[in-house]
Amino acid sequence: MARPKKHYGQHFLHERGVIERIVAAITPRPGDRIVEIGPGEGALTLPLLRVAGRMTAIELDDDLIEPLRARAASVGELEIIHADALKVDLTALAEAEGGKLRLAGNLPYYVSSPILFHCLAHADALADMHFMLQKEVVDRMAAAPGGKVYGRLSVMLQLACKVEPLLRVAPGAFRPPPKVDSAVVRLTPLPTAQRPDPGLARMLEAVVRAAFGQRRKTLTNALHGLLDADAIRAAGIDPRARAETIAPAGFVALAQACNPADLPHGTLPAHNADQ
Ligand code: SAM
Repeated sequence: MARPKKHYGQHFLHERGVIERIVAAITPRPGDRIVEIGPGEGALTLPLLRVAGRMTAIELDDDLIEPLRARAASVGELEIIHADALKVDLTALAEAEGGKLRLAGNLPYYVSSPILFHCLAHADALADMHFMLQKEVVDRMAAAPGGKVYGRLSVMLQLACKVEPLLRVAPGAFRPPPKVDSAVVRLTPLPTAQRPDPGLARMLEAVVRAAFGQRRKTLTNALHGLLDADAIRAAGIDPRARAETIAPAGFVALAQACNPADLPHGTLPAHNADQ
């Protein structure tokens, strides 16, 4: 067994019961186009491959690839892409596979938000995603308006996907144990017609960033420079409300009410939405 590398975020799953529960949550079926991000030593790969018959895995660490290939040889057909998951064009992969992908992965936590947003950028190519993440991140992804942890990540994720937290995983299930609790979440992209117009993406990002950047202020104050109180009211939102009480659809209405000419320069990409 390889010595886990900290800089690659390697925490290998070893607890059989946890692995079985994750695989059961994914419910692989023969013929599924499963793509695993970060297969490591194959804790999830091998049971998924056993059912699916063939699948793809994207792994960055060169040292893990040949041992994994050898372990998978008697189980099924495993294609390993040796790459940074952030650089893999999932839409092209789905086209090559002839249909939507099912993504899975116990994600490396150091890069989990960028990987999440990279996947969301290819949402039309994805049937669903099952990811292990820090529990605290899953809590924020699934949070409802009004709660303490409801924020940018909740809004941006919930506008793109149905978010279902599935199970909590304690540090002892991994080698080495991470310092935090983990959780598995299922993300199912909403139909294209139910997601915000891609043309609105930068404005939406700017509005959500501004609103939660000063979450204790009223929207009138937080959105100063983008929308005034009358425009906020015209969008159907109380201008005295705070960002943390506004449902995701409310932010779409606010973004639609903005003038694109007011878009701040140098808006950060959505994958920084981890506050
Ligand atoms: N799936 C295995 C398991 O559950 O035991 C390993 C999970 S470990 C938390 C994360 C895996 O992602 C490691 O194998 C690591 O080498 C790989 N990895 C790290 N950064 C990556 C990246 N940018 N792209 C693809 N894989 C990456």
